Amino acid sequence: MPIRCEIVSQDRLVYEGDAEIVVLPGMDGEMGVLPHHAPLLTTLKFGLIKVRAKGEEQVFTVAGGVAEIQPEIVTVLADAAENVQEIDTARAEAARKRAEEALASVRPEDADAYLALEAALRRSNLRLDAAKRFRATKRTNYTEE
Ligand code: ATP
Repeated sequence: MPIRCEIVSQDRLVYEGDAEIVVLPGMDGEMGVLPHHAPLLTTLKFGLIKVRAKGEEQVFTVAGGVAEIQPEIVTVLADAAENVQEIDTARAEAARKRAEEALASVRPEDADAYLALEAALRRSNLRLDAAKRFRATKRTNYTEE
């Protein structure tokens, strides 16, 4: 019997489906969740969620959050999450550039602004790294006639 998996971010339902295993970026490292797992509530680091369903793996970036594990369902409440296949790399590049530029000129005493920019930089780097590592690359084959 599979385990149900739901990944919800602040603004949308990112994934729902049945899985054979869900791997989460727990505070103590990667944790694999199989069906019939003992109930558990855990916070999540910035990292990757891997959902294996019908022998295929889907990879999601998650910018922190919490996961509630029950024997029949894993619910992830993420600050932000996206399937690596839907990451817009141009948008992430632009977000990284904006955050880097703003960090260079933020006033040191403005801790809130500094932390927000640092988090934005980490989100964009996470998305760019994951897209590079996990996305199927498009290939164009030119044939000579
Ligand atoms: P941006 O400045 O580009 O909005 P952000 O890090 O501030 O980036 P978030 O607040 O983390 O964005 O996310 C807002 C919504 O947009 C979320 O649903 C998130 O999954 C989505 N999102 C953010 N960046 C990307 C991206 N590069 N590709 C696809 N979806 C993204």
